[in-house]
Amino acid sequence: MNVITNHMPTAELQALDAAHHMHPFSTQNDLAARGARVITQANGCFLRDSEGAEILDAMAGLWCVNIGYGREELAEAAARQMKELPYYNTFFMTTHIPAIALAAKLAELAPGDLNHVFYAGSGSEANDTNIRMVRTYWAEKGQPERNVLLARWNGYHGSSMGSGSLGGMVGIHSQGGLPIPDIHHIGQPNWWAEGGSMSEEEFGLMRARELEEKILEIGPERVGAFIAEPVQGAGGVIVAPDSYWPEIQRIVDKYGILLIADEVICGFGRTGNWFGSQTLGIRPHIMTIAKGLSSGYQPIGGSIVCDEVAGVLAACEFNHGYTYSGHPVACAVALENLRILEEEGIIDRVREETGPYLKEKFESLADHPMVGEVKIVGMMGSLALTPHKDSRATFASEAGTVGYMVRERCFANNLIMRHVGDRMIISPPLVISKEEIDLLIDRARLSLDEGMAAVK
Ligand code: PLP
Repeated sequence: MNVITNHMPTAELQALDAAHHMHPFSTQNDLAARGARVITQANGCFLRDSEGAEILDAMAGLWCVNIGYGREELAEAAARQMKELPYYNTFFMTTHIPAIALAAKLAELAPGDLNHVFYAGSGSEANDTNIRMVRTYWAEKGQPERNVLLARWNGYHGSSMGSGSLGGMVGIHSQGGLPIPDIHHIGQPNWWAEGGSMSEEEFGLMRARELEEKILEIGPERVGAFIAEPVQGAGGVIVAPDSYWPEIQRIVDKYGILLIADEVICGFGRTGNWFGSQTLGIRPHIMTIAKGLSSGYQPIGGSIVCDEVAGVLAACEFNHGYTYSGHPVACAVALENLRILEEEGIIDRVREETGPYLKEKFESLADHPMVGEVKIVGMMGSLALTPHKDSRATFASEAGTVGYMVRERCFANNLIMRHVGDRMIISPPLVISKEEIDLLIDRARLSLDEGMAAVK
C-alpha cells in the first residue's frame, strides 16, 4: 500500500478519504462529489490545508481548542506520560497519578461542592454516565421510580443512544430509534425564532415555567434531573433571556430535582469564567465536561459531581465505566492545558479584554442588512440571518439554505464559521488576538455581503 502523506495531490487524498472514511454528520455522497478540505497543520488560531491556504478557525475545531493550536507543552506532556505509563485502567481498586492530579485540580476549579470526577472519553460518554448516575442515585435513595430526565428541544448533549436522547435534535431522534424511554423535552429559550410578540423577558419566564409544567404533568416523584447547556451551543448559540435561569433554578430547587449543567462547550473559559454556570449564576449538582478540558489535544470528558450525589453513590458499586476512563495520557495533557489556561491568565483576558473587544466588533455586524439578532457571551456568538429584521422573518428558501451559502462563502474566504439553520456561529480559540478578531470580522462581513448578493 502507498504511504499516505501530505505530499500527495489533494485530489488523491480526497478520493481515498471519500472511498474509505465515513465522516460524522456528513452526507458521504457529497464528500465523494466535492472532496473534503484536507487540513494538514495548525498553529495558534490558523489552520493550513493541503493547498497551502491559511484559514482562520473561528470555531476552535469543534468548540474545543481553547488554548489554540500548536502548544508544544501539551505534546511534551503527552510524550512524557506515554514513556512513563501509557495506559492503565482505573477499575478494580487501581489508580494513577494523572487521574488523581486532574480530579483534584477539577475539584479545586469547580464551584460549590462539586468535588468528585467520573472520567469518560468524550462528552457523549459523560452524559451517558449522567443518565445512569442520576437513576442510580435515586434508586439508592429508595426512589427508583424517579428515573425521568428532562432536557430541551434543540439542546445538544452528544450522539450516543443516551446522550442523543437527552439532546433535542430532531435529526438525531429521527434515526436509530431514539429517544430511549423516560426522557422528555421542554422548549428552548430561543426568543428570536420562537418568542412571537412577547418581550424577551416574558418569553424567558414562559419557557422556564415549561419545566414546572412538565414536572407536574409527569409527577414530581418521577423526575430525577433536568439537563441543559448554560448557553446552547450546537443549537445555534442560543443565549437565554436574563429571566430564564433564575426561574429554572427556583423550579429545580422547589422540586428537589438534580440540575445537570452540560459544560462541554461552556466550560474552561469559553464564557469568560471557568464554567458557564458561574457566568449565568447556576448551581448544578453535576457538570458535564469535555472539549476545552484538554483543548481537544486528547479525547477526554467527564462528570464533576457534588458531595451529596457522590456520597450516595459511594455506598454502592456503580456498575459503569469505560476502558479509557481516566486515561493517563489524556489526564496529563488536560492538566497541562489547565495549567496554561490558569498561569497565562487566558480566561481573565477573555472576561476583561478580548471578550469585550470581540463583543463590540461582533455586534457591529448588526448593521448588516441580513443580520437580525446578534448574541455573544465571552467567546461564543451567533448572528441570526433574516430577510427582514423588524418582523424577524425567515427566508422564503428552505431553512438553512442561506446559512449554508454564507458558510460556504466563509470557507472560500478562509474563515471557519458554522451555520445552524440560518444562524451563523463562532467560537474561536480563547487566545485569539485583537488583530485576529478584526480579521475575523472583516472576513465575516465579506462573506455576508457575498451571501446576500447570491440570495438576491
Ligand atoms: N454536550 C455538548 C454541550 C456538546 O456541545 C457536545 C459536542 O458538541 C457534547 C455534549 C458531546 O461531546 P462529544 O462530541 O465529545 O461526545
